[in-house]
Order: sequence, then C-alpha cells, then structure tokens
Amino acid sequence: MDSLPFAQRVGIVTGGSRGIGGAITTLLAEDGATVAVLGLPEDRERAHRLASLLNGAASRLHFYETDVAVYNRCQEAVAAVLREHGRIDFLVNNAGITRDHTVRKMTVEEWEAVLRVNLSGPFFMIKAVLDTMIQQEYGRIVNISSVVGEAGNFGQANYAAAKAGLIGLTKTVALEVAKRGITVNAVAPGFIDTDMTRAMPLAAIENAIEQTPGQRLGRPEEVAEVVRFLLDERSGYITGAVYNINGGWYM
Ligand code: NDP
Repeated sequence: MDSLPFAQRVGIVTGGSRGIGGAITTLLAEDGATVAVLGLPEDRERAHRLASLLNGAASRLHFYETDVAVYNRCQEAVAAVLREHGRIDFLVNNAGITRDHTVRKMTVEEWEAVLRVNLSGPFFMIKAVLDTMIQQEYGRIVNISSVVGEAGNFGQANYAAAKAGLIGLTKTVALEVAKRGITVNAVAPGFIDTDMTRAMPLAAIENAIEQTPGQRLGRPEEVAEVVRFLLDERSGYITGAVYNINGGWYM
C-alpha cells in the first residue's frame, strides 16, 4: 500500500448533505479529500448548496442519488464513484432515520424501515466497497452508531436494535479485514443538534440535556472531528473500536 496525503483520498459519506453527515462532508472536503455524497433525490439540492458554501473545495463534493436501503443502488453508486474517481479510500455510513413508537405501538413497517436503512444500508455499502479496498490494500470505514445502541431508549426499539447491530457489524468486519490494511470503527454520538433531534418533542430534548453531564447537545462538527481522525491513514492501528461522543451521557 502506497502512502497518500489525505488530499488525494476519495471516499463516500452516505446522507452527507445535512446534519452530522453534512459536517463530515464539509470537514473532509476542506481537508482536500474528494467526497461522494450518497443521498435521496431531495438531498441533491442540499448537496449543491453545501458545495457552494465550501470555499475552494466545492469541486471536491459530488452527489450520487442513492437509496442505501436498496443493495443494487449501493452497488451502482460505488461503481460510479470508482469509474469517475478511480479509487475508494473511505466509507462513512451515516444515513439514518427514526420511526419512534413504543414496541406495543410500533408497526412492523416502522421496524423494518429503520432496520433497512440503519443496519442493512451499512451492510450493503460495506459489501459494495470491500473488494475495491482489499485490492487497494487500504480502506477506512466508519459507521455512525448511537448511544441509543449502547444504552437503549424509550420508544426507539427499532433504532436501538439497528444501532446495536451496527456495532456488531463493525467489530465483525473489522476482524474479517484486519490483515488487509482496512480499519472498521464506529462512533456512538449522544444527542447532537440536528434536524433529527429537532424533530423530538421539546420536553425530550430538555430531558436529554438535563441528563447529559456536559449539560448541552453536541454539535455535528464535534462528531465530524472524530470521524476525520479515524479516517486518517495514521489511525491504522485503531479497528473494531466504538468512540463515545456524548458529553458523558453514557460511559
Ligand atoms: P438527519 O436526519 O439530519 O440526516 C440524515 C441523512 O440521512 C439525511 O441526509 C437523509 O436524507 C439521509 N438518509 C435517510 N435515509 C436515507 C436513505 N435511505 N438513503 C440515503 N440517505 C438517506 O440525521 P443526523 O444528521 O442527526 O444523523 C446522522 C446519523 O447520525 C444517523 O445515522 C443517526 O442515526 C446518527 N445519530 C444521530 C444523533 C443525533 O442526535 N442527531 C445521535 C446519534 C446518532 P434526507 O435529507 O433526504 O432525509
């Protein structure tokens, strides 16, 4: 494996046009990497807006319309990135949804939708990039899990199960590719100030802040910094790890 400066790296951020994904895309593009943002049709405009805010780095952001819940779409997007940019050094599995209800009220559709996007999606994406990373003898994969996957959360059985599953997926793939120059890690953010959190009832947000020793929500940029660290070539001895970013909410 040849050493490369980060500015020559190419990678993918799913759901990378807003929220935590938007902050990750911004930081990586500002550090010089070429970033393929995979997202739903409504993300195209957001990705273009994000690119327009990247002073001098706009040309490094590329949008690929992709529903990560569909394996063929993931394969097509990965093939397009490879065709257009020649390599895939990193993958950030960030796209995620919530469909909150207590188990008694949760529909089977709500259960399946969240598992499909938040757990099958990362599996599909990892499966789609792995051969390329193995050929390159280099790869960095970061999965965005959640504190909820570690601690559970009232009304989020589907989300907690998917995020806990993502930690199991992270550790297993890490084992399977450790000899190939590929690292696979997860970050587990606590409550971060994004549209996803803003959709929660105000009382739930206030409660989350109150229960956080740090007494505030996290910022997307604080998650992005940890992801950037894990994506660095120099972080090659860190694999199968789960990094908590939660202001002390869960230790
Ligand atoms: P947002 O809802 O702000 O952004 C999620 C992104 O994922 C959006 O761009 C969304 O697209 C995209 N997305 C959703 N479904 C799909 C799909 N099927 N295919 C492709 N893209 C899709 O969420 P956050 O930024 O808050 O969260 C990002 C990640 O971090 C998620 O995995 C979330 O679970 C996790 N997380 C968030 C925490 C928080 O407190 N905010 C805490 C812990 C973890 P669109 O814009 O079209 O909806």
